[in-house]
Amino acid sequence: MLDMNKKLDYKELLQKRDVKLLFYISRILFRNSLFYLYPVYMFLQFCKVLNQKKKYSLQTINEDIIYQVVEPSDKHQIDENYTVIINNPFLTGKANAVLKVEHEGKIIQVYVKPLCSESVEKYVIFASKTLLFNISNTTDLMLNQRIEHSLTGTIRGTSTGKIGFAKEIHLAVINSPLELDNIVLDSLVKNYFQKPKLICENSVIEINMKIYLMDIPSSMTKVFNANDKVYFKCTKVLSNVESNSKISGKYAVLGETTIKQVANIQSFLPPCIKMKPLLFDVRKVEKNHIQSSKCPSGLEHYAYELEAAVKPFLTKKLVMNPAFLITGKKGSGKEIIISSLAAKFGMHFYKITNFDVTAHVYAQNEVKLKNVFFNAKLYAPCILYMKNFENYEKNNEGLTDERIISHFTSGLKTLFANNKFPVILFCSSNDDKISARLKREFLEIFKINPPTEEERTKIIEWLFQYHHLTYHEDLTEVVKKTNTFLFEDMNTLVKLAKSQQTCSKKMNTLTSENLLSALDYMHLHHNQNIGAPKVPKVQWDDIGGLKDVKEEIIKTINFPLKHPEFVNSTGLRRFGILLFGPPGTGKTLLAKAVATECNLCFLSVKGPELLNMYIGQSEENIREVFERARAASPCIIFFDELDSLAPNRGVSGDSGGVMDRVVSQLLAEMDGLNEKATVFIIGATNRPDLIDPALLRPGRFDKLLYVGPAMDFASRLSVLKALTRNFNLNDEVRLEDIVKLCPSNISGADFYGICAESWMHAVRRTIQQCENGPKDVRNFTEKDVEVGTDDFIYALRSVKPSITSKDLMYFEKLKREISSNQ
Ligand code: ADP
Repeated sequence: MLDMNKKLDYKELLQKRDVKLLFYISRILFRNSLFYLYPVYMFLQFCKVLNQKKKYSLQTINEDIIYQVVEPSDKHQIDENYTVIINNPFLTGKANAVLKVEHEGKIIQVYVKPLCSESVEKYVIFASKTLLFNISNTTDLMLNQRIEHSLTGTIRGTSTGKIGFAKEIHLAVINSPLELDNIVLDSLVKNYFQKPKLICENSVIEINMKIYLMDIPSSMTKVFNANDKVYFKCTKVLSNVESNSKISGKYAVLGETTIKQVANIQSFLPPCIKMKPLLFDVRKVEKNHIQSSKCPSGLEHYAYELEAAVKPFLTKKLVMNPAFLITGKKGSGKEIIISSLAAKFGMHFYKITNFDVTAHVYAQNEVKLKNVFFNAKLYAPCILYMKNFENYEKNNEGLTDERIISHFTSGLKTLFANNKFPVILFCSSNDDKISARLKREFLEIFKINPPTEEERTKIIEWLFQYHHLTYHEDLTEVVKKTNTFLFEDMNTLVKLAKSQQTCSKKMNTLTSENLLSALDYMHLHHNQNIGAPKVPKVQWDDIGGLKDVKEEIIKTINFPLKHPEFVNSTGLRRFGILLFGPPGTGKTLLAKAVATECNLCFLSVKGPELLNMYIGQSEENIREVFERARAASPCIIFFDELDSLAPNRGVSGDSGGVMDRVVSQLLAEMDGLNEKATVFIIGATNRPDLIDPALLRPGRFDKLLYVGPAMDFASRLSVLKALTRNFNLNDEVRLEDIVKLCPSNISGADFYGICAESWMHAVRRTIQQCENGPKDVRNFTEKDVEVGTDDFIYALRSVKPSITSKDLMYFEKLKREISSNQ
């Protein structure tokens, strides 16, 4: 019985008629329990009904997130094709729910499996792309992409008992370049339907090989990528009981359901729509970033360009052939852009390298190409991607073969004719060396340029997401140092940094230290690939004397850097400096210090390195150097021993006039440097008189600076001071006295020799002392080595000036001649 006193407390509330009625019923229904239970119960029911009526917007998530939230052992229990993630407390613990969506005037109701989490956005149903594709069930791609933003639906829980089991289902494999054999397919289907899975007629199911392919010998699975997915279409669902339920979906499970495989079909796949990164923490997974797009962020604008070019061919039949060429350096991300495009359109991605279509004999070549085109038609809708296309037209001897070209062009006609689904051809090439006849076949040519600083920042951030890494520091410094890096280089950088991180506790958090040390490693070991330019580490303090030359160079370089507007508008500028002087006087050192001081990239090229025995290759090398420099702009190209690279034309006695062509190429490149790229050229030579005079004309190496040995006392002292900067000198050492002891015309390199020798002498002496004394030699550090005057005197005994007075006179004369000309 209810306590009458309590009722008095709620007197006011009970005045209301509805509430009164509610309590009245409650008292009759629940005589033996508390009077407020019924109203609370009613209130909850009311909320539930309201909640069911509430429209949720549908959004796609990556399927992988669904796998991540379950225990590894439960992975194949989960029904990834029908799971939705939702923030709805009324669905917690429910095994099934009915999702009702209105689409194009039709009402679609499907059974789904709800996975509840309070951490995801409210009033949004996150569904896999396959579920969304099945709901919209349309082959119209454009519509499919729009649907993402427009689909809304309601959801209510239901009990499992309501969903019956199918008696028989018919599955058709969707043709794809994977070409799996029956053993694999059987095993996939068997494993997938081991546990009851929801299935609807005319729906596509996606089976992840990584999860459902465990009983196939590993030797067979090697051929596939672990992340590959196989798509089936369920063409028929038969059930025992005739049901007139409007909700589509039945359970299918081995033992209960007969699964029949019917003839393969062609179909679009669920398109990969750009997904929102989802912060999600159900069960074990704590805040997980799921990659938002398949295309790296910095490269997205290329993807948009390609998309715009491809789109018209997907909806309409046009007279033109959808063949496109995409050029860009190796590793610039051509493949990832195109494969992301295929995923976005739900098309198959059929990749062919030129090895797949070339053979020893021409006839075989022809057959192979025919096969490729035939397959492409079979896998349609697909994007056929032919890699390394520049090698395609060449025969075994590396010469252009007209037969291959004509065969390709005639093959294209059959490739694009009579297709029910679109076939798009993309050919990629690392350079532009494709014959005009082949180029004509392409509707458009796209070029992937090296990424800019901003693009590199985006790429690196995308890569962090892709590799599931977190990074909290500022990226500017790292990105600045990745000049000339392409997409693949950035990927290697992140992977290297990650590999260094594995030993530490915070495995998925990178620091700038990791990245910088990975960068150093790459510069050291991947020099060839990444073009090598980097900012050197030579400071002004490392150079003694040469003050005038130093100032002159800085003046020439710093001004256009700081005020590009004055220089670019007129187009008149001097960017070539030629340093000349006897060997070992610090020319290289000077160029490096300039690069460090102005924070420029430094591309050091030794003349003889560029020369190659193959015809045309030396010129190509020069072209490449300039291209690299342009990509690394602002940059200094330093040509050491320029006399060997650019001797007087017509004088050198090499056969075939290779050197003449090299000089001409160098001239052409120097003239071709435009305002867009800030590239400075510094040359160094011991013999300026041997250099082709055309190179010394205005606009080229028009500033000649003499770098001579330190002659006066002050500059000699400063050279010695610079070289002994890091020495632990004895208190009694007076560098002034030592300079006085040095021979008169010695170069910086000779000074370096003296310092090195005295250092070694000091080391030997200290070790000897130590061996006789108490201290262990192994505990020695360089700080224990004290260099004394005796060491210098010892070193001076063996020094021989490398510059003779004859040399000096020759250079003085040259200097006078040149300065009178300038
Ligand atoms: P070059 O290019 O003129 O032949 P380098 O610049 O390669 O000569 O010099 C060789 C070495 O001599 C340098 O690595 C440096 O150690 C030393 N050296 C030359 N000139 C100087 C200088 N002015 N100050 C300090 N060190 C010098």
